[in-house]
Amino acid sequence: MEIKPWLRELSPYPPGKSLEEVRRELGLTGPIYKLASNENPLGPSPRALAALKEALSRVHQYPEASYRRLREALAARFGVLPEMVVLGNGSNEVLDLLFKALVSPGDEVLMSEPSFLMYEKLAQTAGARITRIPLHKGRHHLAAFLKASGPRTRMIFLDHPHNPTGSVLAASELKAFLEELPSGVLVVIDEAYGEFVRDPEAARGVEFLQAGYPVAVLRTFSKAYGLAGLRIGYGLMPEELARVLNAIRQPFNVNLLAAVAAEAALADEEHLQRTQELTWEGRDFLLRELSALGLKPYPSQANFVLVDCGRPARPLYEALLKRGLIVRPMEAYGFPEALRISVGLPEENQALVAALREMLEKA
Ligand SMILES: *Cc1c(COP(=O)(O)O)cnc(C)c1O
Repeated sequence: MEIKPWLRELSPYPPGKSLEEVRRELGLTGPIYKLASNENPLGPSPRALAALKEALSRVHQYPEASYRRLREALAARFGVLPEMVVLGNGSNEVLDLLFKALVSPGDEVLMSEPSFLMYEKLAQTAGARITRIPLHKGRHHLAAFLKASGPRTRMIFLDHPHNPTGSVLAASELKAFLEELPSGVLVVIDEAYGEFVRDPEAARGVEFLQAGYPVAVLRTFSKAYGLAGLRIGYGLMPEELARVLNAIRQPFNVNLLAAVAAEAALADEEHLQRTQELTWEGRDFLLRELSALGLKPYPSQANFVLVDCGRPARPLYEALLKRGLIVRPMEAYGFPEALRISVGLPEENQALVAALREMLEKA
């Protein structure tokens, strides 16, 4: 057996702890709040749930292989052609397909350090060379990306909002960057948290796609739409590239239930709005209250807040866990003094702040 040498060192993605794991490991009996994986605390849209129930009796059938209706609905929503839409088993699969289509072993990809861990993992799987560009003041350092792009650079990843800081780029910054970029590079604008952006200056990836720049915009039903467990996301990209991705993907890569639920969720504007309002209020609350505790939260346009605790964050994480509050420690991202906290329901956000206040007063 000859396993590819560059795959031998890989280890599985480090997920946040699940409710069951925490309950079992700590023997907790009270309520547990999971503020670690940026899920929608309201749950899925009731319309998606109804559509799922109706579709359950049809799971003996394969889904319709082109997912035409959902792709048309997404195309209409974003003002692009249905031929520019690629669905995936989570937006992570679309990322994977981009690697398959664009990156050969030895090619280079650029990403911020830190950023979403899947970029690195998929790049390693592809045998790509990874160039990591340190963040500049918690934001993507676009000038450094330009300097680093060379003839073997195939893709640049911009998580936007950025994970884990929640920062965004201004439309003017992104435009200047794309104007300067050498040809042959695809910029992947990962807008997994795009629905939570409220800053009117922030770039919207799809506008750059419409304007003909070489970008792929990734979006997902995992976050604002509350369907993380079903696994469905999508990419919007130039038609020529989408055609290839749709040709190389597995024929039924999105399962029937996911496709049905996504279509219903997309049509439920009211649930999306409720989610956005809950997130914005909770985010403002967390930013305000964490600052009041003397901690340093990063300004965020996403549904989570990265907070610099000014001391090793692991003990705080462990102590929160004992109180049934699951947040995300950030060592893996290179922030040993920070926690990433997902915006939850008001009572969850309040419980988190109260627990931190008590712990900090004791310390
Ligand atoms: C959560 C997240 C995703 C979502 O991935 P799915 O496969 O669609 O669930 C994508 N990108 C970033 C940066 C994320 O944080």
